[in-house]
Order: sequence, then C-alpha cells, then structure tokens
Amino acid sequence: MSLIKIIPLQFSAMDELEKMLSLLSARFKVETVLSTPHFDLTPYFNPVRSQYNANEIIQKLVPMTGETDKIVGITELDLFIPVLSYIFGQAYLGGSVALVSGHRLENSRYGLSDDPLVFSQRLLKCVVHELGHTFGLKHCFQPGCVMVSTTYVEEMDQKSDRFCRKCNTKLTQLRG
Ligand SMILES: [Zn+2]
Ligand SMILES: [Zn+2]
Repeated sequence: MSLIKIIPLQFSAMDELEKMLSLLSARFKVETVLSTPHFDLTPYFNPVRSQYNANEIIQKLVPMTGETDKIVGITELDLFIPVLSYIFGQAYLGGSVALVSGHRLENSRYGLSDDPLVFSQRLLKCVVHELGHTFGLKHCFQPGCVMVSTTYVEEMDQKSDRFCRKCNTKLTQLRG
C-alpha cells in the first residue's frame, strides 16, 4: 500500500500540516499521514550561507521511504541548493522525497503584515507542486496550474493549488 508521509523537520505549525492531509489524499489518491521521526538538520547547515542544503537533506530522507511511498519534509528553516540563492522546495522527477520550506512564504518576510490564509495557501501550493514532481510531473506553462515554476511569492499567488487538466491527465497516466 502506498503512503504519502508528511514529516515536519523543525516546523512548528503542526495544524498547517494536519489540515493538508485529507486534501493531499484526495489530490493524489494516496493515503496521506503525518509522521514525526527524529531527524537532526544540524549537519546540513551551511555557515557561509546561513542556510540548509536541500539536496543533502533529501538524500538522507530517501532511505526512510518504503518502495512505493513518498515523503514530504516540511521545514521553517531556509533552504538552498548550490546553484540558487534560495528555494521554496525541491524534489527530483519521479523521486520519492520532496522538501518544502515555509521560511520565505510569510508576508512579514517582505515587509507586509502576516496573513495566515496566504501562508497556508502558499505552503499547500509548494507541497502539491513538489509532490507533483515526485509523481513525474514536469513544469507546466498553463497559467494557474500548480506545476507552473515560481521564483517569487507574487508569482505563487497567481497560481492555484490545483493541477490543470493536462497535468491531471498526465498524473493519472503516470500513476498507472
Ligand atoms: Zn518545480
Ligand atoms: Zn499543468
């Protein structure tokens, strides 16, 4: 039986994760659970960048997945990959692990007052997007589709948390 496991990796807003579970189950047609294994992020801190290395974290999470499972690690720490100054999330196409950071999703980071709903929506979009990659979906150019690639939260706010028709059909095909 396949599972999507949501794993908080230093993420305090557990209610955000709990309310995501049923939605992800429906969206991906896979049972989604919250799992809280002990996982220390300290070794992945890069003192020069003051950020955490997403690729290294993903590699350590891979052995924690079952054969058909997906893991989504969610953190409030700031993530990077070597070629980019920051990332909202990272996943490998067809891989088993996705990683998402809420660090840059709060309005307060951009000098605006925080809006919990906006934060929830952005977090959900990131999770659905990265999970989409693990199921084999590539970036999409259909405006509004969750698989559109975004670099800034303003762009993220322009898209929905849903797959466009094409991506949805593709997802069904990929899941066999
Ligand atoms: Zn992407
Ligand atoms: Zn699409």
